[in-house]
Amino acid sequence: MSVRVRFAPSPTGHLHVGGARTAIFNWLFAKHHGGTFLIRVEDTDQARSTRESEAMVLDDLRWLGLDWDEGPDAGGPHAPYRQSERVEHYGAVARELMERGIAYRCYCTEEELEAKRKLAEAEGRPPHYDLTCWRNQRVEDKPFAVRFHVPDDGDVTIDDRIRGEVTWRKESLGDFILVRSDGLPTYNFSVVVDDHEMEITHVIRAEEHLTNTHRQVLIYRAMNWDVPEFAHVSLILGQDRTKLSKRHGATSVSAYADEGYLAEAMVNYLTLLGWSSPDGLEVFGREYAVKHFSLDRVNPAPAVFDPQKLEWVNAQFIHAMSAAELAPLVRRFFDVPWLEEGIDVVKTSVHRLTQFESALKFVTEYATPDVDRAFAEKIGDELRAHGTPDSADAYQAMVERLKASTGAKGKALFMPLRLALTGLDHGPELVRSIPLLRRASEVDPSVLSPLARVERILAR
Ligand code: GLU
Repeated sequence: MSVRVRFAPSPTGHLHVGGARTAIFNWLFAKHHGGTFLIRVEDTDQARSTRESEAMVLDDLRWLGLDWDEGPDAGGPHAPYRQSERVEHYGAVARELMERGIAYRCYCTEEELEAKRKLAEAEGRPPHYDLTCWRNQRVEDKPFAVRFHVPDDGDVTIDDRIRGEVTWRKESLGDFILVRSDGLPTYNFSVVVDDHEMEITHVIRAEEHLTNTHRQVLIYRAMNWDVPEFAHVSLILGQDRTKLSKRHGATSVSAYADEGYLAEAMVNYLTLLGWSSPDGLEVFGREYAVKHFSLDRVNPAPAVFDPQKLEWVNAQFIHAMSAAELAPLVRRFFDVPWLEEGIDVVKTSVHRLTQFESALKFVTEYATPDVDRAFAEKIGDELRAHGTPDSADAYQAMVERLKASTGAKGKALFMPLRLALTGLDHGPELVRSIPLLRRASEVDPSVLSPLARVERILAR
């Protein structure tokens, strides 16, 4: 049996890191087993779902590189499944369950139900439906919901692939709604019909849905459908060990993209939120994760989201990438004709793509520094006589001549040299920054050449 998994976002906002982690686990699991990964947009909550949000979520998934393999033919190869386009499927199953006496019409209004709940609460009973419409089953010309009858016998047990055996007593459940009076299915119902019809073999989703699973299993059983395997992935917590939320900083994937995180680093770090590699490797590409991913190595304990660790992982990717690979990604934030060369000089000091701009300020900006005039004259003479070095060798030759002409060495030589040419007292190695300044000023008229910089000091 080939593996089929799905990610089922509710399109009510951006994709957040928890959803992204669930999507990544599903994607890795599918790829590891040579299976199928699909997206099913759970958009039957009409008050909260929007097409704009769906588009954002799909963009975020694409940005992460989580391509899906399948969708309804009608919408073209890139359209995901949408529950709003499958309403007749749920209706057909609901009718079958009613014909078989497992589900029934419930005419109770929201106000009546609310009053019953209050009464149950006041009498110290569980807030279950009081079975009025189950007892006097009838067909009336009024709007009705379809309710599932939970028989009062025994337990429901699942063997969760992450959490082990979980058991519920049926009597604790109460009869629940499958289709609301507006004709739209509840989550618990549509998810089962879809997972069955889409032949999903493994339901990998957030832990918060564990409490829905027993109801879903009862529907599978009533329909004599195979129950898929379940794997409930733990919560993600903030550093204070409360559920990750906006209070902890950015939680949407696109916010991290905007802050200069790489998709590869996000996939790497989010994979580590709950999964660990068999050999302890912490920085890896997705091929590695595909090769080694298994649900057996997913930890049932909550994972703590550590923004500093994410930034560290991001830096590892930036440092390992070539300037040619980075340039197209950096261009979104900062674009100059000498970008690739600039990236190459500063990338080891950068943790996020957004930081290249400030790391390269010594090229784009120059505030005339306070440098000893006699010293600046010597640098000017040197640059006029020999030109600005364009290589490490030329730089070494310049340093030797400046040692001789100024009589300075060590810090006394390099600090004023750095100040005079970059305008700053810190930055990347001069052997690389000075040739960069030369070439940047040759291709970009807004960059002041090294000699022009020294002349500014002398003109003061
Ligand atoms: N639409 C649900 C959610 O966004 C997915 C539930 C599931 O995967 O079964 O949480």
